[in-house]
Amino acid sequence: MPPMKVTHKKIQNWYHRFGRTTLPWRNTTDPYKIYLSEVMLQQTQVSTVLERFYFPFLRAFPTLKALGDAPLDRVLKMWEGLGYYNRAKNLHRTAQMVTHLPQELDALQALPGIGINTAHAIATFAYHQPVPIMEANVKRILCRIHQLTNPKPKELWAYAYEMVDKENPYIYNQAMMDIGSLICTPTSPSCHLCPLESICQGKENPTQYPQKKKRVVPTREEYIILYHHQGRLALTQREGKFLHGLWGFTSTQNPLDEAEPIGCVTHTYTHFKLICHLYLLEESTPSQSHYFTPKEIRKLAISKVDDKILNVYLDTMASLFT
Ligand code: SF4
Repeated sequence: MPPMKVTHKKIQNWYHRFGRTTLPWRNTTDPYKIYLSEVMLQQTQVSTVLERFYFPFLRAFPTLKALGDAPLDRVLKMWEGLGYYNRAKNLHRTAQMVTHLPQELDALQALPGIGINTAHAIATFAYHQPVPIMEANVKRILCRIHQLTNPKPKELWAYAYEMVDKENPYIYNQAMMDIGSLICTPTSPSCHLCPLESICQGKENPTQYPQKKKRVVPTREEYIILYHHQGRLALTQREGKFLHGLWGFTSTQNPLDEAEPIGCVTHTYTHFKLICHLYLLEESTPSQSHYFTPKEIRKLAISKVDDKILNVYLDTMASLFT
């Protein structure tokens, strides 16, 4: 048997014994459910998606059509806590464009928010096409197998296409993700348990591949003004690219002299750390367009930061009466 066929067989055997075969998106043939899981899992851990988001979202929007028919506000509310809200907006836009996902890679990539990685994942997991996938675990495995420290995407894709099991692409791709997550881990890979051990060139020094990139996270500071009128707070629906569509408190570059400082919250995003200095401004006449009670705010789609800000406000108010 050719060496790659032997490896494919080992991968299959490993998957049947140790793979995470019970994950719900691995037990459906519905392309929408598979697509949803792929989008949710892009920036979020399996356990979080599984425990808190996947099933409630599907209960609210059981089909692509139901998602497309729903107002964006409701979709964002169901996405609240998952972060990276562009994912939800793109899902919604896609659902407004199609009621069935196409099978071809080009047609998939023409839809909002579906890049090359997601298109390949949908093609193989929903339609069992003989194409590889590319996510963090698979990248790490490929780098180690081929001793690559800093490969270009094109190089990785070429290796991935060379290696994919064209007869059993579904099992192969699911297994590669699981091997990366359970065996070929970033800091302590268990090479002696790995079905790829016989073809792996990097097994002597696996943690050298790929090279780690040092990341410096910049800090951004904002001043948040809580306009307060008769127990209600002003919020606006964001229009800029950042957190677009979510409701939020008013942010300014400078504090207002007449406002009272009530605290500070911090939040770390992937690309920067945000420090918000909070100021409360009591108004005898409302100056903003929309005011809400804290109870009403909890029902709006708001970001994690604004949720933290609301908590500081509630603590401040509670301390005034104790
Ligand atoms: S042999 Fe080791 S380094 Fe190579 S793929 Fe398996 S776990 Fe990773």
